[in-house]
Amino acid sequence: MFEYAPAPESRSVVSIDSSYGLFIDGEFDAAKEGGVFKTVNPADEEVLAEVASAGPEDVDRAVAAARRAFPGWAALPGAERAKYLFRIARIIQERSRELAVLESLDNGKPIKESRDVDLPLVAAHFFYYAGWADKLPYAGFGPAPRPIGVAGQIVPWNFPLLMLAWKIAPALATGNTVVLKPAETTPLSALFFADVCRQAGLPPGVVNIVTGAGDTGAYLVAHPDVDKVAFTGSTEVGREIARTVAGTGKRLTLELGGKAANIVFDDAPIDQAVEGIVNGIFFNQGHVCCAGSRLLVQESVFDLVLESLKRRMATLRLGDPLDKNTDIGAINSAAQLARIKQLSEIGGQEGAERWSPPCELPDRGFWFAPTIFTGVTQAHRIAREEIFGPVLSVLTFRTPAEAIEKANNTPYGLSAGIWTEKGSRILAVADKLRAGVVWANTFNKFDPASPFGGYKESGYGREGGRHGLEAYLA
Ligand code: NAD
Ligand code: MG
Repeated sequence: MFEYAPAPESRSVVSIDSSYGLFIDGEFDAAKEGGVFKTVNPADEEVLAEVASAGPEDVDRAVAAARRAFPGWAALPGAERAKYLFRIARIIQERSRELAVLESLDNGKPIKESRDVDLPLVAAHFFYYAGWADKLPYAGFGPAPRPIGVAGQIVPWNFPLLMLAWKIAPALATGNTVVLKPAETTPLSALFFADVCRQAGLPPGVVNIVTGAGDTGAYLVAHPDVDKVAFTGSTEVGREIARTVAGTGKRLTLELGGKAANIVFDDAPIDQAVEGIVNGIFFNQGHVCCAGSRLLVQESVFDLVLESLKRRMATLRLGDPLDKNTDIGAINSAAQLARIKQLSEIGGQEGAERWSPPCELPDRGFWFAPTIFTGVTQAHRIAREEIFGPVLSVLTFRTPAEAIEKANNTPYGLSAGIWTEKGSRILAVADKLRAGVVWANTFNKFDPASPFGGYKESGYGREGGRHGLEAYLA
C-alpha cells in the first residue's frame, strides 16, 4: 500500500490577531466589562486568539447600533441592498483561501471540506439572496413585504461561517439589521466576516458581531429591542430560547438537532450507498445536525453492506485538518469529545458491538476514530440521542414499512436518506418520512435555493430558498 506524503495547506495565508474585540457599529471595540476568552485549535490545543466576551451592556450597545441602522437600511431600494450583498459574496470568493484555512484552524474540520464545501456554499448563499433583494414583491409574500427589524442570531460551531451566511444573507436582503453571536469555540471566521463587511462598505450597524458563550446568547435573546430571534444549535438550548421568547411578540426560528435515518434497500447500488453512508456520518467528523447517524440496512444485504463499509472506513485518513488528504479532522472541543466518548461507552454497555478501523490518533488535540455500532436496537441510547460525532448506529429492517416505521421512530425530524434503484420506491418512502429534507441516492447535499429545516424536536422555520425569506418578513 502506498502512503500519502503530507500535503499541508500553508497556515501563513491567513493572519490571526492575538486579540479581538466586539464588532459594533462598524468598529472593533473591547467588551465594557473587559471579559475575554480564548479560542484554540482543536487539532493541537494551541491558543489561536483571545476574544472579547460580551456582557449585557455590550449586547445592549450592539442592539442599539442595529436599531439605529435599521430605518436607513430598510429604506434602501432592494437593488441597492443587493449591491452590498453581491460585494460581500465576491470578497468572500476572493478571500476564500484565507477563510478556509481560518475555519479549519479554529474548528478542526479538514481543509478539503472548508475549501470545497463550506466556502463555496457561503459565497453561493450571499449571491443567491443578493438576487432576491430587488424581487421581494414577487416572492409570494404580498406586493410590499416589510422587514421585521433587528434580528438576534445565534450560530453553533459545526459550520461557523456557513451558518452565519444562512442567517445574515436573507436578513440583509429583506432589509433587517442583525446582531450575530458565533459559538465560543469558533468565533474567528465571524470576526473575519466583520472585516469583510467593512471592506464591502456596508453601513455601520447593519451587521454587528458579539462574541461570548451561552450567557451572551441569552442576553441577546432576552433583549427587549430584538424583534426576531434565529437560533441553530442544540434542542436543549432551543427549548430554553422558546420559553424566553414565548409571549413577547418576537418572531422565532429554531434549527435544532437530528438523528437521521439513512435507509439502504437491497436493490441499492451498494458501492455508491457505502460512499453515501461514509459521507453521511463522517463528513465534518459527524458534527452535522442532518448527519445520517442511524443506518437502516435491509437484512438481505446487511453482510455485504457492512463488509464494504468496513473496507471503506479502513481507507479514511484521520489527522492534520490542514493536510489536503485528510478525511477526518479534529473533534471541535474537549467537551464535545467527552460527550462522544460517554455515549459510545453507553453503546457498549447497552450491548451493541463496537468497531473502528485501525487508526492512530495524534497525541495532542481532540480526536475520535470513526466508529460503527452493530446489533443496535431502537431502545438503545445511541439509536435515540444525537451523538454529534463520527459514530454510526447500524440497524436492520425487512420490509419498506418497517424501514419507514423505524426511520420515523425518533423525536427528531430533520433529514433522511434513501438508497434504492427504484424511482417509485423513492417517492413512496420519501412521502412517508417525517423529515424536513430527504435525499435520494445521495446525502448531505446543500444548495442555497433549497429550503432546509425540521419537524418535531428538530425545530421550526426554514432556511434557504424562497422559504428562507419568510422568516425575515413582517
Ligand atoms: P449549544 O446549543 O449549547 O450552542 C449553540 C450556540 O448557542 C452557541 O453559540 C452557544 O454559545 C449558544 N448558547 C448556549 N446556551 C445559550 C443560551 N442559553 N441562550 C442563547 N444562546 C446559547 O450547543 P453545544 O453545547 O455547543 O453542543 C451540544 C450539543 O448540541 C451537541 O452535542 C449537538 O448534539 C448539539 N448541536 C447541534 C447543532 C446543530 O446544528 N443542530 C449544532 C451544535 C450543537
Ligand atoms: Mg476554536
